[in-house]
Amino acid sequence: MSAATVKGWCPGALRPMQSGDGLVVRVRPFGGRLEAPQISGLAELAERFGNGLVDVTSRANLQIRGVQEDGHRPLLDGLARLALLDPDADIEARRNILVTPFWSRGDETQSLAAELEEALADSGLALPTKFGFAIDDGRSRVLAGDSADIRIERDRAGGLLVRADGARLGRSVERGQAVSAALALASWFLISGGAKGGRGRMAAHIASGAVLPQSLRGETEPAPVMAAVRPGHYPEGAMVGVAFGQMLHATLHQFSACGHALRMTPWRMVLSEGKREIPSGAGLISEPYDPALRVIACSGAPRCREAHADTRALAAALAPRMPADARLHVSGCGKGCAHSGNSAVTLIATRAGFDLVRDGSTRDAPVLRGLSGADIVSDPSILVGGN
Ligand code: SF4
Repeated sequence: MSAATVKGWCPGALRPMQSGDGLVVRVRPFGGRLEAPQISGLAELAERFGNGLVDVTSRANLQIRGVQEDGHRPLLDGLARLALLDPDADIEARRNILVTPFWSRGDETQSLAAELEEALADSGLALPTKFGFAIDDGRSRVLAGDSADIRIERDRAGGLLVRADGARLGRSVERGQAVSAALALASWFLISGGAKGGRGRMAAHIASGAVLPQSLRGETEPAPVMAAVRPGHYPEGAMVGVAFGQMLHATLHQFSACGHALRMTPWRMVLSEGKREIPSGAGLISEPYDPALRVIACSGAPRCREAHADTRALAAALAPRMPADARLHVSGCGKGCAHSGNSAVTLIATRAGFDLVRDGSTRDAPVLRGLSGADIVSDPSILVGGN
């Protein structure tokens, strides 16, 4: 029987998702980090068993695209050899952890990540498929705007806290309590009915009136949020953007050839650990204000059989016309594979042209329908309204 699941599932390696271009096999790097040999191994697997395209996802994972059914098993064997495979699909699904890329050797980030990975594997918690954790324990928070349900952060004085997403304040914890407090919050979420058929999220649960018990409630304000991260030099290495969140296997080879590890981010950027020069190459974004950072586009035609349009060509043409602080998402069909969240403008290709959604996602009602790509390019004021 096929290991592929129904569409709409959050894919993994052991439980891939069927897309228009074959199976999507999601690889979740442990600790949000890939060593150079793992990077080159992934490049080889993407070339051999996929169509050579690798997604960098908003969950800080990599996805090997275009895998055929008979290539899935040998691909899994390859991932196991690279120490990138979980023992089973349920453990893999629970290991949904964002890790700040701004950590240094000897600080607590990587040990917290490893401890949380192990505790989740042992927990047996039946968490919803999109339920996740963030380890955002720098002196400023960088993951506050990214999808996570339970957050391990710091307070303004540098102490650790555990915070339920949707709650303004977190509970102060000692280092040794952080992971158990995070799992206690996850257990409360399930027991208090937050899972709602496997689709619930913490912030929605709290917004609906669920009240944290005294033992999990906190009164500690988290550290300030860091300004948006952009490509450039950081003390931890060189941050580079990945155009449209997708790269060729050859680009992965290029990263591994320089011998530096990669730290994954949820921002369609990767940090080349310890590297002083910004990596350059086809599809990599090195300029901090490159317009390409404002656009998201799925594989689109001709790369995906379900696409009604060439999403990337349109997104590239429109990127310079988008306001600097606005994001454009171009989706080749209503599934919205590339981005599930809101954007200032979402264009959804249909048989009858593009539907346009403002301040929403592919799931929201369009304000305009049946637009042609040529019309949008010739009059991009359509995107931001006023008509
Ligand atoms: S959203 Fe894009 S990649 Fe996903 S199925 Fe539709 S056309 Fe294909």
